Amino acid sequence: MRFRAPNLATAQHWANVLEAAGIDCELHNFYATGALGGLPADACAPEVWLDDERDDMIASRLLDAAMRGPAAGATPWRCRHCGEELEAQFTACWHCGAVRDPRDG
Ligand SMILES: [Zn+2]
Repeated sequence: MRFRAPNLATAQHWANVLEAAGIDCELHNFYATGALGGLPADACAPEVWLDDERDDMIASRLLDAAMRGPAAGATPWRCRHCGEELEAQFTACWHCGAVRDPRDG
């Protein structure tokens, strides 16, 4: 199964979620031009591919939960370690790996 992500940060987050659950997956990026490099990250359509189709069901549940996030209507936050701005559903910074601090705005 392949899961299409809205952006690269989300795809990376999904891959992290799956790997944390012991599910092997690969991150693939498809560029509109077919050329690698020279495009901003949000110009591509990243996908997470599962290595084993037997993982499809549990992966779907994990990603469904990941997409909904820990709290509906939560606001984006900024990593206090590297300053990266992150969407509410992320519980850790995809850029530097720092875990979200509840005091972060
Ligand atoms: Zn960070």
